[in-house]
Amino acid sequence: MTANAREPGMTCAVCASRRLAARMEVEEFPYGTEGASVVLKTRVRVFRCHDCQFEFTGRDAVKARHIAVCRHLGVMTPEEIRNLREQYRLSRADFASVTRIGEASLGRWEAGALLPSRAYDNYLYLLRYEENLVRLKNRHRPFDGKDATSAVV
Ligand SMILES: [Zn+2]
Repeated sequence: MTANAREPGMTCAVCASRRLAARMEVEEFPYGTEGASVVLKTRVRVFRCHDCQFEFTGRDAVKARHIAVCRHLGVMTPEEIRNLREQYRLSRADFASVTRIGEASLGRWEAGALLPSRAYDNYLYLLRYEENLVRLKNRHRPFDGKDATSAVV
């Protein structure tokens, strides 16, 4: 059993010792609500205090567990979402402006503080195709007859 450290590590939360050893370990953790919970696995860095033997994990473990949950749910990971935005060289504010996704939500997804819903994940998936981003950018512009996706009437 390990406890979470508030900071990625450098002093023991119990005895304040700085004599810590780190090791990688496969961790199993439950995910979901009672009755529908599953056990997920991920690799985490575990710190052990030389002086009091207290063991704990840090913020990188929180991130690793979050990625495992994303993989389990089949939604994009924080890094994939950031890469998507950066693929278009857009700031969060600009990406939010084009997609109408809330900038705060985007920030939380990229930080791994919040999971995108499956609907948002589908939306993000479609945005990986540049033509879809272009469609959004052009959506509220006057029709110029050049949009190949519009039906001819
Ligand atoms: Zn200690």
